[in-house]
Amino acid sequence: MTERIDTRLIHGGVDGDPRTGAVNVPIYQTSTYRQPRLGHNLGYEYSRTGNPTREALEKLIAELEEGVAGFAFASGMAAIGAVLSLYKSGDRILISSNVYGGTFRILDKVFKNFGIGYGIIDTTDLSEVERSITPDVKAILIESPANPLMSVTDIAAVAALTKKHGIHTIVDNTFMTPYLQRPVALGADVVVHSATKYLGGHSDLVAGLAVVNDKELAERLHFIQNATGGILQPFDSFLLIRGIKTLGVRMDRHVRNAEAVAEHLSKHPAVSRVYYPGLKSDPGYEVNRRQAPNGGAMISFELKEGYDHRVFLSSTKMIALAESLGGVESLLCHPASMTHASIPKDIRDRVGITEGLIRLSVGIENEDDIIEDLERAFKASRRA
Ligand SMILES: *Cc1c(COP(=O)(O)O)cnc(C)c1O
Repeated sequence: MTERIDTRLIHGGVDGDPRTGAVNVPIYQTSTYRQPRLGHNLGYEYSRTGNPTREALEKLIAELEEGVAGFAFASGMAAIGAVLSLYKSGDRILISSNVYGGTFRILDKVFKNFGIGYGIIDTTDLSEVERSITPDVKAILIESPANPLMSVTDIAAVAALTKKHGIHTIVDNTFMTPYLQRPVALGADVVVHSATKYLGGHSDLVAGLAVVNDKELAERLHFIQNATGGILQPFDSFLLIRGIKTLGVRMDRHVRNAEAVAEHLSKHPAVSRVYYPGLKSDPGYEVNRRQAPNGGAMISFELKEGYDHRVFLSSTKMIALAESLGGVESLLCHPASMTHASIPKDIRDRVGITEGLIRLSVGIENEDDIIEDLERAFKASRRA
């Protein structure tokens, strides 16, 4: 394994093709493999079980996240669904009070029907975490910074608590990526990704990844991946490997732009609150600094009374109003009606996902162009 993360992004996993010298891993677009004789194969039998292109990606993400094994899925939700399938009827999973809406939905509408329960807690409050670990709780699933209020959870502290109780810490590391934050090194057992976002990085594919830090979990998750079948296809695996190669340079630019935009918004007369753990004034700043070098590139903010969020969201020229995040282009989103619409309104209100909340995925365009476009929307949205 190469030492430094920015080099590992490019040369980690399977570096090229030893047979031909091609610098890229070939796309093995095949469903099956010739078996030389009965009962023998060359390491592959059927592409749901294993495919060399997908395997290269799986080795790469395992190395980047410093885990034992990686698994690639057709989407982030397929990865999360596979990980939740590690548990059984009677078990309960605790989740952060502001996780991705789909994570809440799969627990509330799918796994609950199979007897796997869930509880919503404030994972930024460690005493609440400790109090909530009852004997039926088998895992805590956290995001840090969490979607969409960018609240920061102390990953090492939560992992220490779950270790004490012999249960798992699962971290959705989509917002930070292994370039900025490596939960396994902080004690997490499982890391999941919507690779659709920063890892892919170009808004041109949907993919999910999971990494585990122990052999037994790896065997169980591979069994589930093969049994349930939500695998990533060879071409998409290739695209994702290609995306990950530039993750370092993209993230550096994403973060530089985000810091400038957050600074601008925090002094803005139209903005009542900025949620960004890279700002010194943010309540999560100190804890985030212990587990990541910066605050990432996702910002949420709230408009003041005198500004109309509906008008704001339709008044930018360059920045699109769209679901998703982490692509090279800046995107705006309205969590209450888009990414988090599947969370009931009373829960949204309780955790602070208000009607006026706007989420911005800061892209890698010129920072002045991003700020000018936001200014256009602020001007247009001012109520008379
Ligand atoms: C998008 C997202 C997911 C879901 O991933 P898909 O690739 O859309 O299935 C999960 N977690 C987070 C934090 C996300 O942003």
